Amino acid sequence: MRMQRRISLWLGIWFLLGTVCLWGQVRQEIQFPDIPGYQTLKCDFHMHTVFSDGNVWPTVRVDEAWRQGLDGIAITDHIEYQPHKKDVPTQHNRPYVLALGKAKQMNLLMTRGTEITRDTPPGHFNAIFLQDVNPLDTKDFLACIEQANKQKAFVFWNHQAWKGEEKGKWMEVHTTMYEKKWLHGMEVCNGSSYYPSAHKWCLDKNLTMLGNSDIHAPDLRLKSAPNDHRTMTLVFVKTRTLQGLKEALQAGRTAVWFERQIIGRAEYLEPLFHASVVISPCHHRYRDNVYCTITNQSDITLELKRKGKTGPQTISLSPHTTDLLKIRTKSETKQLALSYEVTNYLIAPETSLPVKLTIDMPN
Ligand code: ZN
Repeated sequence: MRMQRRISLWLGIWFLLGTVCLWGQVRQEIQFPDIPGYQTLKCDFHMHTVFSDGNVWPTVRVDEAWRQGLDGIAITDHIEYQPHKKDVPTQHNRPYVLALGKAKQMNLLMTRGTEITRDTPPGHFNAIFLQDVNPLDTKDFLACIEQANKQKAFVFWNHQAWKGEEKGKWMEVHTTMYEKKWLHGMEVCNGSSYYPSAHKWCLDKNLTMLGNSDIHAPDLRLKSAPNDHRTMTLVFVKTRTLQGLKEALQAGRTAVWFERQIIGRAEYLEPLFHASVVISPCHHRYRDNVYCTITNQSDITLELKRKGKTGPQTISLSPHTTDLLKIRTKSETKQLALSYEVTNYLIAPETSLPVKLTIDMPN
């Protein structure tokens, strides 16, 4: 009897431990809807491991990304900066090789990447979709960027103003890269920083907008929550493949989820907003008021401010909630079109996305 009790106690403990371990590995999906013609992938193309100045083994980055609901990642260790070199010798391709098996098991799209790390200016650049990082380990900066492009990599400028706007200026070397078509994007957001100049230059020069975590420490989040998530890039792909991811990045079909904002081009933010919001036909009229509901299907609170004359002054719609809209109108038309701006959807520095809320009126 005693023996049996002891066995069941041990079994209980093992079961609990097993549950805790499995619980740590649950994936929670990030909820941003697809937009017409494209699937919305959640990606982070900038992170570090012990192979440069990060503090985790490469497979840990895969675990973190998977449980936080990401679809695509790149590990991008510095070529030129390896403070753990004594313990982890220089092997630029190893982080990718070590993490690839796990990424495949978990159905994460992982590309081979690196961070080209020069004094600012010119700054730091990531190259992803590389074949081999080793040929990029060269003194001459432009030769390095050229080599990345020979491998048909996607190259972007990281955290442009991280040392201040003065050091993050657009210089001749950037023009050279740009004119040779060796520079394809910029981080508009990196970690907890937003760079308005990068945002503007992406619009002016037709560069792809990215937002990445640049994590060095372990990311202890068990999931991505609306108010606690890493900075990431939403990529609008035709197919959920590495090729699809690369094609979308080259075409500039991205948006950035940064803190409580979505940042990007109006042409992608507008369909993302409309795919996130469902407005029911009005279900009731009483005197001069009509009533309908508005639902937010996305993981970000939608902050709306009225631009026209009709509708509530402001609407703040939490993720995955439905709100009742009471609209004061004498209109007898079949449809109402209310003018708003989404103040936390940025289509240019300090510029909100204008939207029309179309509402079917009661008969
Ligand atoms: Zn970095």
